[in-house]
Amino acid sequence: MSDSENKPTLGRKPLGLKTSVQAGEVKQTFSHGRTNKVVVEVKRRKVIGKPGEAPVAAPPPPPPPPPPVAEAPKPAPKPSALPSETPQERVARLQREAEEARLALLEEQTRREAEERQRALEEERRRAEDNRKAEAAAAAAPPPPPPAPAAPEPAPVAEQPAAKPEEPARPAAPTAAAAPAPRRFTPVASPAPKRPEPAKKIAHPRDKTADNRRQSGKLTVTRALNEDEGARARSLAALKRAREKERRAHFAGQSQPREKQVRDVVVPDAITVQELANRMAEKGADLVKALFKMGMMVTVNQTIDQDTAELLVEEFGHNIQRVSESDVDIDTTTDVDAPETLKPRPPVVTIMGHVDHGKTSLLDALRGTDVVKGEAGGITQHIGAYQIKTKGGELITFLDTPGHEAFTEMRMRGANVTDIVILVVAGDDGLMPQTIEAINHTKAAGVPMIVAITKSDKPEFNPQKIRERLLEHEIIVEAMSGEVQDVEVSAKTGAGLDELIDKILLQAELLELRANPDRAAEATVIEAKLDKGKGPLATVLITRGTLKVGDILVVGTHSGRVRAMLDDKGRQLKAAPPALPVEVLGIGGVPMAGDTLTVVESEARAREVAAFRTEQATAKRTTSAPASLENMFSALAAKANVIDYPVVVKSDVQGSTEAIVQALNRLSNDEIKVKVLASGVGAITESDVSLASAANAPIIGFNVRPNAKAREMIERNKTRMKYFDVIYHLTEDVAKEMAGIWGPERIETVVGRAEIKEIFPAGKRDKAAGLLVTDGYIKKGIFARVTRDDVIITKTTIASLRRFKDDVAEVRAGLECGVVLEGTNDIKAGDILETFEVEERERTVG
Ligand code: GDP
Repeated sequence: MSDSENKPTLGRKPLGLKTSVQAGEVKQTFSHGRTNKVVVEVKRRKVIGKPGEAPVAAPPPPPPPPPPVAEAPKPAPKPSALPSETPQERVARLQREAEEARLALLEEQTRREAEERQRALEEERRRAEDNRKAEAAAAAAPPPPPPAPAAPEPAPVAEQPAAKPEEPARPAAPTAAAAPAPRRFTPVASPAPKRPEPAKKIAHPRDKTADNRRQSGKLTVTRALNEDEGARARSLAALKRAREKERRAHFAGQSQPREKQVRDVVVPDAITVQELANRMAEKGADLVKALFKMGMMVTVNQTIDQDTAELLVEEFGHNIQRVSESDVDIDTTTDVDAPETLKPRPPVVTIMGHVDHGKTSLLDALRGTDVVKGEAGGITQHIGAYQIKTKGGELITFLDTPGHEAFTEMRMRGANVTDIVILVVAGDDGLMPQTIEAINHTKAAGVPMIVAITKSDKPEFNPQKIRERLLEHEIIVEAMSGEVQDVEVSAKTGAGLDELIDKILLQAELLELRANPDRAAEATVIEAKLDKGKGPLATVLITRGTLKVGDILVVGTHSGRVRAMLDDKGRQLKAAPPALPVEVLGIGGVPMAGDTLTVVESEARAREVAAFRTEQATAKRTTSAPASLENMFSALAAKANVIDYPVVVKSDVQGSTEAIVQALNRLSNDEIKVKVLASGVGAITESDVSLASAANAPIIGFNVRPNAKAREMIERNKTRMKYFDVIYHLTEDVAKEMAGIWGPERIETVVGRAEIKEIFPAGKRDKAAGLLVTDGYIKKGIFARVTRDDVIITKTTIASLRRFKDDVAEVRAGLECGVVLEGTNDIKAGDILETFEVEERERTVG
């Protein structure tokens, strides 16, 4: 487009109003405090609907228009003031027209502003150019010319379209010309070129006609038929819309109802209401409300399952995207090693048996057979498992956690690391309860067993008796022509140890134990603890792959990197192959026995998995909440009768903590329950103390003591502390205390029954009952219950007992008597009185 077309056209009567116009000035206010006065001409509309109406007395305000009659029949798009319109109509019309004119003006104005800026920019450039030239040439070319033509320019352009409009254009032009002038000096807005100029400019050529149209005024039949006219209407409407949009954006749309956005909501197996609300971008309270309507009483912090979450997501009109644990967590089950990658690995052996039957002694004796022993100065490090090298060079791993409880605990966590169980039975004793439990657990695990009949050095040693007794439990040993290997050993003399090792190796061979050593490692935590100097320490057994120093890992809910590895003899290792137990340093926290350690490719992945598992663990802890009103009430009802015995448990190793918690839970019954508020590994801290004080619970410290700050708090809060180093003592103590809280058991024995025959007053306030004793006896002072239609009305005692006005001590069956009941007058003829004796018995827990 030519420069001339770009002129500010503010001055021209932009609306090209025709003869029958009203001219006025509109003051426009722009940003940055600029104002502009524009001449607006408002054209009168021709009201076609009332042609016949007599022209109302010519309204004074409109300027003397051309004869309206002449205008009326003209199809020309220039209707003028209508003689037929009423003053009201005219006012309305004028208002309408003024508004339209204003809008059109604004549109024009916006365009012009943009052009103006563009021009100013160009001018600036030109001036700079000129200056440069001037300097170069030393002959100054007067810089004013560029701006000068700029100002007058608008006028001619304004005139152009103004050719159509009539005289009012003249005064308008200068105004307009004057107006843009200051704008030239507005800062040369660098973002100006970014304005949607191109579109405008393209549209510009049409602008002339557009202007014409605008100038040519209101809708006429011809115009209505002219589709261009429609375009004009659209552009106005578009402008209005644009302005409205802008206004909304300006006011941040807060008051406007937001348009509902449908979201894809990612929902895991379990999610808290609040988290779901966040993901849906809804209010937590709204979700709680919706759940309530579904009959579920939950708080925003409670966890709901995926199905419930789906209901909610749909309720709120979003889409659910279910993700399951496997999408985030490491699923080792799908990651199966190809058979050709598998190589033989040492067997992992667990020793079980009754207490004092010699498990520890045997473990020690077996450790003593290690040919590597002594090389590194003997046993310097004691971890929960060790590996020996036999004389033949084979390796055997022993888990140093004797007893079936640890074994079962690990198995419950899905950590079936044991390949072979050695059942220790003392040959001088026999099958004991724990022996039988061990047999059952081994059978349940489907792990092959080797029976070691120990203490063979003892004179009372009678292995045959043991073998026979084992038959009762379907253990047929080889000596009884069965399949279960058995061996007579003495931990004291070492007799039979080699045979035992041979049998382990034989069994291992049968099992064809294999693992792929050439892959990222996977291991199972045998035990874990917090070391003051080294931080969290975990003894792990490599199940496959090779664990190397520097490996990034995730174990349970913790992530970390292998800082160092030590074997059972305290030697530093760089790499650990399958079935080797090692102590790992560098984990972010203390994992749990039975947790799986997995080496992952990156720290980010390790953190992601650990975070996910933590979330899951939290969810698990909180999901137990009642999901329905019904459940809630029944849970409340059930709770009402149960006494809680709260405790906080801290111990030195994870294994002990778990064992203690388990043992304590076993003390619980339907009426009194141990409630472990918190359990953990390490020193007793302030948070333990505050937790315990809040619940008035004792802190149980097993091989641990409070730190300095916690000690202060304990003294201040008078928190009860219980320190133990033997689990049995701990449970005994807790059981005793629980029994104390529980109180003695009340045993009620019904001793008599009587029918209430009549009621009569006794003294001023009391009522007496005339009875017939039907069974047993009634004694003065004895406990009594009044029942009416088999419903207990009161429980009281016999205050006085009379026969024929004489106080008596006892009345037996078949006789009549009168009684006054202690503290109640709620008795009626026909009620039944039941007397009972109460015996209190000390209770025991556990
Ligand atoms: P655990 O409770 O099963 O671990 O049994 P221990 O290994 O602590 O042994 C209990 C008792 O039996 C200890 O006094 C041991 O000295 C003793 N003992 C264990 N094995 C033998 C053995 O082979 N011969 C003899 N004579 N005593 C043994």
